Amino acid sequence: MPELKCTVQTCVHNNQFLCSLDSIKVGGENARNPQETCCDSFQERKEGGGYMNSMQNSMHSSMHAASDCACVDCKATQCMYNENCECHAGKISVEGGSASDSSGTECATFKCS
Ligand code: SF4
Repeated sequence: MPELKCTVQTCVHNNQFLCSLDSIKVGGENARNPQETCCDSFQERKEGGGYMNSMQNSMHSSMHAASDCACVDCKATQCMYNENCECHAGKISVEGGSASDSSGTECATFKCS
């Protein structure tokens, strides 16, 4: 289970550069470089969505404390860290500062094998 750091502040699961999910999905079946990968678990954070939304967001973050490790189910099988669609890197970094959908994100740790 890799240590997961994520810079995607526009994602609802992001909590101070950590991910509140226990497992994430990374896409990029034919990826040959980091730009061709993406975090399929990305969900856009809707700001200003009214009281109920912000209540739900804060409940969500307090109920799911973000940890720095997550299981990574990864489709980027060309990556040297990929073994049977599981990531075996010690640490990964998901990036995409201003992403509004999953295609704006990437696994920056991808290395072509
Ligand atoms: S390091 Fe490689 S195997 Fe791990 S999530 Fe990133 S692309 Fe997938």
